[in-house]
Amino acid sequence: MNILDIIAKKRDKKELSKEEIDFFIKEYTAGTVTDYQAAALVMAIFINGMTDEETTNLTLAMANSGDVLDLSKFGTNVVDKHSTGGVGDKVTLIITPIIASLGVPVAKMSGRGLGFTGGTVDKLESIPGYNTGITIEEFMKNVEEIGISVMGQTLNLAPADKKLYALRDTISAVESIPLIASSIMSKKIAAGANKIVLEVMCGKGAFMKTKEDATLLSEKMSAIGKLAGKETVCVITAMDEPLGYAVGNSLEMIEAIECLQNKMKPDVKEVILEIGAYILKLAGKGDNLEENKARILENIENGKAYNKFIELIARQGGDIEYVKDTNKFEKAEYILPVVANKEGYIKSLDAEKVGRISGSLGAGRIRKEDKIDMAVGVTIEKKTGDYVTAGETLAYIHANNEELGNEKVQELLEVYEIVDEPVEKTKHILGII
Ligand code: URA
Repeated sequence: MNILDIIAKKRDKKELSKEEIDFFIKEYTAGTVTDYQAAALVMAIFINGMTDEETTNLTLAMANSGDVLDLSKFGTNVVDKHSTGGVGDKVTLIITPIIASLGVPVAKMSGRGLGFTGGTVDKLESIPGYNTGITIEEFMKNVEEIGISVMGQTLNLAPADKKLYALRDTISAVESIPLIASSIMSKKIAAGANKIVLEVMCGKGAFMKTKEDATLLSEKMSAIGKLAGKETVCVITAMDEPLGYAVGNSLEMIEAIECLQNKMKPDVKEVILEIGAYILKLAGKGDNLEENKARILENIENGKAYNKFIELIARQGGDIEYVKDTNKFEKAEYILPVVANKEGYIKSLDAEKVGRISGSLGAGRIRKEDKIDMAVGVTIEKKTGDYVTAGETLAYIHANNEELGNEKVQELLEVYEIVDEPVEKTKHILGII
């Protein structure tokens, strides 16, 4: 078997066999298939798609490309959560300590930013000292002793996905249903939880732009989960405008901390409560979603979720003084207002465009090895449905380069669509699969 034939087969729209997929994943993980050959195959998959059987085979090959964690000592209701990616999506940062504070073990392996979307690992690293690269032994010990650990994808767990994920990010090959489904599910299978809740984002700032595609992706991931013996629930959430009010690594971390301090904005709250309620349900903590939501709110109000977050950050080496006083986070040198030039109602604020603006300020990567700038990004003052007068501040650009910052101010102003007629606020939960 050789990689050139496999690339040519997919290029010519033919179906790959299990053996061919296994060969590709094994040799790419070992480094004998090069990045440029993998890039060619990935692009052929992106363009020509994969059958359900190919997608399942790719998922299992990636899941088995490294270790598969055994979390059985934490019981049969260990729930994992993953997002398909969005702009301003800080849900994992907020939900994991809440859930852990309610007695559900949280063993969470997260990713870095991908395309125009941010990643939990990058955001966590905005807290000086926080170690996302702990060993699996430390990870398990943390879950055992404090009920929670959040780390990056180690070399040992689904290493093939780790390589492919970073590669796809740099060749514009992210927005593909088989590639996303296999990427997410391979990690979740390798990470060992037996129940999975997936946040499937849908809209302008998500990889799935339509409800149809988000539904299809959800169905595929649920089917793979079932095959792997893992109960899977997908919560489809709206991502036409950024979630919450901050986009960028430390800016989102600050917003997440404020949410845990009971200052959660309505859109974030709606998503947190829905996803959290399903996690508790799958964890065997109660079938009544409304009661689950009430328990989540209670643990935010009584400070238990916030305290659990502090415990997590301290345990993984992070400086908790940053959590206690978010003014300590390094600020961008230029914080530039984006000012409305007309009066009216905000009709839209395209999340992908906001994500790309934040990325181009330095919050995202162009090449795999790029360093990101934690302080830069966008903070939003006005969102869809809000009324503004000319001269009011719509948002701020946080930049470390004045010229680039001013350029992005103009760009962001153009992203705001302002109309005369009132605009309805958008719904955030679009469906459950
Ligand atoms: N999140 C992942 O883990 N993988 C993808 O491909 C997209 C989002």
